[in-house]
Amino acid sequence: MSKYIYGIDLGGTTVKIGFFNLEGDLLDNFQIPTNKEENGKNILIDITNALKFHMNEKNLNIDDIKGVGIGVPGPVSDGVVYRCVNLGWGIVNVKQELEALLGVPVFVSNDANIAGLGELWKGGGSGYKNLVFLTLGTGVGGAVIVDGRIVDGFVGAGGEIGHCPTCTDGFSCNCGKTGCLETVASATGVVNVTTKILQETNTPSNLRNYDKLSARIIFDEAKAGDPVATEAIEIFGKNLGFVCAMVGVVTNPQAFVFGGGVSKAGEIITEVVKKYFNEYAFPGIVASTEFKLATLGNDAGIYGAAYLARENSQ
Ligand SMILES: [Zn+2]
Repeated sequence: MSKYIYGIDLGGTTVKIGFFNLEGDLLDNFQIPTNKEENGKNILIDITNALKFHMNEKNLNIDDIKGVGIGVPGPVSDGVVYRCVNLGWGIVNVKQELEALLGVPVFVSNDANIAGLGELWKGGGSGYKNLVFLTLGTGVGGAVIVDGRIVDGFVGAGGEIGHCPTCTDGFSCNCGKTGCLETVASATGVVNVTTKILQETNTPSNLRNYDKLSARIIFDEAKAGDPVATEAIEIFGKNLGFVCAMVGVVTNPQAFVFGGGVSKAGEIITEVVKKYFNEYAFPGIVASTEFKLATLGNDAGIYGAAYLARENSQ
């Protein structure tokens, strides 16, 4: 009987691979570099070789493997990824190609989605079946999970919450629109909001003493009571809270879970988002909706990819 699963998080620089039992214990993990030469044509072959080498080392054969889950940095629908700029990929049928190479069932989703599934299985959303995961990093990624399943949508754009239009004017986004959530709520966004306040006001602020601002500095100064940092964090929370209020009446999640580099600021994030969520959201969902921090860090992806394979393999 198959006893193990592999969870793979395919990123632009490295491929993280986790080896799990069916209970979700991470038994082993390793990584290989992402070979982007010739439009990434060897990436899936490299992954296959790494898994076969690992199975050899552990004295396992392919029948011991129940399935393989993989997260890729681009929109996915039905195992097909539509475009991964980071990898040089156009349309690739990851499921079909990797199944042919490996000989086991393969399940594919987008990287933010698998991180959300990981948090649902073993992290900050553990015990929930309905949650929305937001990764606050350079951009804002999202995953919408309903009854334990990712909502990928028609062309894989389900959960692209970073590109929700927000309640303020915002800045231009690299998707081509203006005012997307990630232009104010990502690490870059928080810096942009703060810089604008510093330029447009004379409010005294410690932040004026820094040569270069980062989201981390701004959150630290906000915790210390700096007025400009506090105003920037209120704008961050207001926009996130507003978007959570909208998403909240679409899928009615049990919790919103926040991960990514910005979430390292801690409870200040969940507190400010909850404050504005409570103000904007449909009263019927206010009391029952929780706001939590992610706990798995960079391992969320491999956990979620393994969960995807575990739930979908026969
Ligand atoms: Zn956008």
